[in-house]
Amino acid sequence: MPEFGLDRIRQHLENLVGERNPFTQPKHLEKTAQYISTQLEAMGLEVTQEKVNYEGTQSLNILGQTYGDIDSKGLFVLAAHYDSVPDSPGADDNASAVTALLEIARILSQTPLRTPIIFSAFTLEEYGFVGSKNFIDRDLNRKNQLSGMISLEMVGFKTTEPGSQYYPPFMDPSQYPDTGDFIAVVGNEPSAGLAQAIAKGMMRSVPALKVETLVVPGQGENFTEVRLSDHSPFWDAGIPAVMITDTAFFRNPNYHQPSDTLETLDLEFIRDNARAVAGFLNKYLNQAD
Ligand SMILES: [Zn+2]
Repeated sequence: MPEFGLDRIRQHLENLVGERNPFTQPKHLEKTAQYISTQLEAMGLEVTQEKVNYEGTQSLNILGQTYGDIDSKGLFVLAAHYDSVPDSPGADDNASAVTALLEIARILSQTPLRTPIIFSAFTLEEYGFVGSKNFIDRDLNRKNQLSGMISLEMVGFKTTEPGSQYYPPFMDPSQYPDTGDFIAVVGNEPSAGLAQAIAKGMMRSVPALKVETLVVPGQGENFTEVRLSDHSPFWDAGIPAVMITDTAFFRNPNYHQPSDTLETLDLEFIRDNARAVAGFLNKYLNQAD
């Protein structure tokens, strides 16, 4: 596979970081949508903009799909939300993941894939997954083809400080690392196989990357702390979906704060996460049925 460069990662972040909110910074939200569209078009992907209305605002889901027939393996989705909460530049949340999404899309668009994939930049995640819900329910035919989904949710914050990692109350912290230097792969029971395959594929692609996997029971409906991204509407629709995350406020003190800035991000961590996910997808989407 082609290489991932830190220079491109920095360039994306410089374009993306800054408040992106439909109520307080609609211009920057729109500018960000156009930036993502332009990038995906330049890769030769089939780009669609889907309008999402919410409380008097209108914003866009940006979708870039690879060409190819949808066979028995269906349609896979790799997603990251690009909106941010008010009063936060949203660097880790979620410019880091949009950056990873764009770089994974760029690399995979240069690689032949058996199974098509939609690279999705969702709007309005911060208002209850409005964009991803709209994506699922908009087109019943497409919904029936969806075979799996990954939500990239904050993939840029890492620290080697012992005691820096916290966990939700239902987890036993003694069973997990206390240092916030890993990437987490979170699934529910129907997506347990996908979550294990992703974690394995990521570790194989980037052996130096620390990967932790968590599979919550059932559909994950009772685990509020791990539902906080665009994978949860997919869980609710019965579609296997996995969140890949630096664990957000369980590690990053800048979560939803004005201090969520580019300077706090670890660009090599973003690159390694992107490389690991691309390595997994390249294999997964080329597997025979
Ligand atoms: Zn987020």
